[in-house]
Amino acid sequence: MDQSDSNFIRRVSMLRWVLPIVFFAIAALYQVAFARWVHDTYGDQLHFVIEVLFFGTAGPLITFWAMTLSIRWLQDKEQVEKTARASERRLASITSASADAIISLDSSGHIESWNRGAELLFGYLESEMRARPFTELFGGGEAAEVEFRWLTENIHQVGFVRGHETDCLNAEGIGVKVDLTATELTDEDGKSLGVSIILRDITNRKRWEEEIRRLNASLNEQVAERTRELAEKVEELRLANSDLQKLDRMRAEFVSVVSHQLRATLTNMSGAVEHITANCETMNATCTRMVVILNQQLERLDRLVRDVLNTALIEAGELVLHREPISVPPVMFQVVDQIRARTDGRSIRLTEKPGLPMVFADRDRVAEVLANLLDNADKYSPPDKEIIIDVSADDAEVTLSVRDAGPGLPASSLERIFDKFYRVDSSDSQVAYGYGLGLYICSRLVQAHGGRIRAENGAGGGAIFSFTLPVAK
Ligand code: ADP
Repeated sequence: MDQSDSNFIRRVSMLRWVLPIVFFAIAALYQVAFARWVHDTYGDQLHFVIEVLFFGTAGPLITFWAMTLSIRWLQDKEQVEKTARASERRLASITSASADAIISLDSSGHIESWNRGAELLFGYLESEMRARPFTELFGGGEAAEVEFRWLTENIHQVGFVRGHETDCLNAEGIGVKVDLTATELTDEDGKSLGVSIILRDITNRKRWEEEIRRLNASLNEQVAERTRELAEKVEELRLANSDLQKLDRMRAEFVSVVSHQLRATLTNMSGAVEHITANCETMNATCTRMVVILNQQLERLDRLVRDVLNTALIEAGELVLHREPISVPPVMFQVVDQIRARTDGRSIRLTEKPGLPMVFADRDRVAEVLANLLDNADKYSPPDKEIIIDVSADDAEVTLSVRDAGPGLPASSLERIFDKFYRVDSSDSQVAYGYGLGLYICSRLVQAHGGRIRAENGAGGGAIFSFTLPVAK
């Protein structure tokens, strides 16, 4: 709505008041000039009707109502136009402030508008570019025409083109990489008015993309190089590992062969000592003592060779168990007899449990574990103290335990007592002869049976070693 519209509204507003007054004036005039004449000529009735309906009521009211409606309509119209003008202004300022180039073309592809962003991007003023063909931005020529034709065809088909990356030329003839979005402009009837084009400068983005591509390629090359090196190292390690495994096998075989040879020799020597003890009547006291010492040393050596052989078998994974259902008490009695024979009247108490289930185990290996634990109990507890062997069972396993009245085990050793070569006091190997292999072998033998072994201290002192064996099904 322009100035003349506003004046019009003002005038109509005035009329709203003026017209009733005019009506009133006419009515008054009528009363003064014609009322008597109408009354005399047409009688009282018409006079009355004219007075009341026209001059008195209808006239002023209709006028007032008509005027009010017109004013409201005009005010509404003014409001709508004000809003449209404001949004037009907002749009125009967004367009001109945009960092992107926003260009509109007429239906023949000539530039109609050219915002500030376009000026900054291409270095041309709007006045220089208006009415020039858009293809000039593409550098002109056949290629530019083909590209523009492709663009307009797509716009006409779909209504828009988005994300089209292309090269333009700025005022200095330097290439500018842009991302182009184009939309068809139509009137209310859908008739094409031209095209709006937004161009975003992507020169930097493209540069970074190129840089990233280059870095990626070099990274891939480096990764491939490192992977190659790693593969070579893995191969080297594999070869070294296979050599080591070969060496380990050779070591285990060597230990096994030597141990067997040693044991055979020891058996022969033990036989000879036994023969001397039984048959040589003329030995003096010194010789007898020497033979006893010789026998002791042979036993120790035999134990050491057995331990080394067992360790070699365990570590080579060649420990073979001959498992069968066996009864535990006979094994216990047999081992206790052996230990008693070896010791000087050591008191060993067996608590018997009738109705023990059979266990599924290798008889010799179970005897070996028990003998080892009894040997230790004998070795590490005073000779006059009793050793107690206890046995118990539930549905799944039989538990054997060996309790002595010795010094027990320091709490810090309980965790490591079954480690290979572990000794609580490594300086006592002369007093309590040993190498820290016995308990290691015991634990491996028990584990191989699917059982568990543990060490603890008794409530009243001494050490308790217990192990379980699975019940034979
Ligand atoms: P060793 O041949 O040295 O006896 P073991 O593996 O049989 O090796 O035992 C490891 C260590 O555990 C021993 O050196 C000893 O210190 C400790 N030990 C084993 N049994 C007992 C026990 N019954 N009482 C106290 N200490 C023990």
